[in-house]
Amino acid sequence: VFTAATVAAAPEDPLFGLMKAYREDPSDKKVDLGIGAYRDNNAKPWILPVVKKADNAIHNDPSLNHEYLSIGGLAEFTSAAQKLIVGADSPAIKEKRICSLQTISGTGAVHLGGLFLSKFHPKKPTIYLSNPTWANHNQIFTNVNLNIEKYPYFHASTKGLDFEGMMSTLNTAPNGSIILLHACAHNPTGVDPTQDQWKEIASVMRARSHFPFFDTAYQGFASGDLSRDAWAIRYFVSQGFELCVAQSFAKNFGLYGERTGAFHFVSAPGADASAASANIASQLAILQRSEISNPPAYGARIASRVLNDPTLFAEWEDDLRTMSGRILEMRAGLRERLEKRGTPGDWSHITSQIGMFSFTGLTEAQVMTLRQQWHVYMTKNGRISMAGLNTHNIDYFAEAVDSVVR
Ligand code: PLP
Repeated sequence: VFTAATVAAAPEDPLFGLMKAYREDPSDKKVDLGIGAYRDNNAKPWILPVVKKADNAIHNDPSLNHEYLSIGGLAEFTSAAQKLIVGADSPAIKEKRICSLQTISGTGAVHLGGLFLSKFHPKKPTIYLSNPTWANHNQIFTNVNLNIEKYPYFHASTKGLDFEGMMSTLNTAPNGSIILLHACAHNPTGVDPTQDQWKEIASVMRARSHFPFFDTAYQGFASGDLSRDAWAIRYFVSQGFELCVAQSFAKNFGLYGERTGAFHFVSAPGADASAASANIASQLAILQRSEISNPPAYGARIASRVLNDPTLFAEWEDDLRTMSGRILEMRAGLRERLEKRGTPGDWSHITSQIGMFSFTGLTEAQVMTLRQQWHVYMTKNGRISMAGLNTHNIDYFAEAVDSVVR
């Protein structure tokens, strides 16, 4: 029988455990490099100026109320989100073969896509995740009963992409597998394929009839350029792939807690594509209805105002350059400091990796020493959130790394 006493305690979420340890550390030197959220140069959360503007406009808009959104969410938001990811002039939009639903941020979009594929894919194929990947991918796809396998991704000695390993697994995975791909700024490694490598990935996926499942949580946040960060997805769409995209607006709008995201299913080109897309939309709507009924309005209203107004859009691009630019400066600054100190090892990966995270290559033992002796907090795999570094703590951090590496 089921009683409360039959439920065993779950292990603590490693990231949230780390945050707690940081909060409880009384040292005034402590440095938080765990959490994947942008911080300004004073280690404070940053409300994007354009978001503040849109927020004020919403508060003063007498036409808004607290009614439910539709099941698919705010239409002006989902159509703008669609244009943002595939490009406004994409034939896929003109041919009406993208269906888009607003979701509970990127996590909800990944889940909705997983649930849809688990229910509607006739073969219930295995989903291949990069090794490593965002830890939540494993839990989300397990929850919807998809079988999970890994493809090699990170090369421990070069601290770059294990392209050969990745290609070899894509080549030998059963035909028609689902391949989860990070569109840009791979979490946790910060390592992305080059455009030429993406072309080769697309070519093997075409040959093996694999289904691309893109997760995009850092568009514009990675390079500061929205098109550049969407290049891989746009390339796959241009090649006629049928694919899906889980899109988060948490990082690029700083709307973390507002849970703003979208799920897009792009059907392959063809005479029946728009009818197929409408069928998919109808099934996704039923799944959405049973799980969340309809998505939250507030964040989508903010994003929608910005995405649909050319002046605000341009201001948003400035804000994106502010965030990505600060992170790039921290990357260059950290590498320079370690090289100046002669810290053993090659630190070029700090600047070749991109986005919120860097996989430093520090060992678990070194990570623990950094935590215990230096009050520097990062995940055990040696991942640091670059946004946690700033001009006040970067010298201290470089000194700490130097000391544990020697
Ligand atoms: N996917 C990846 C790769 C991520 O790094 C994240 C956030 O860390 C997400 C999805 C989803 O985040 P959210 O649900 O906050 O949009």
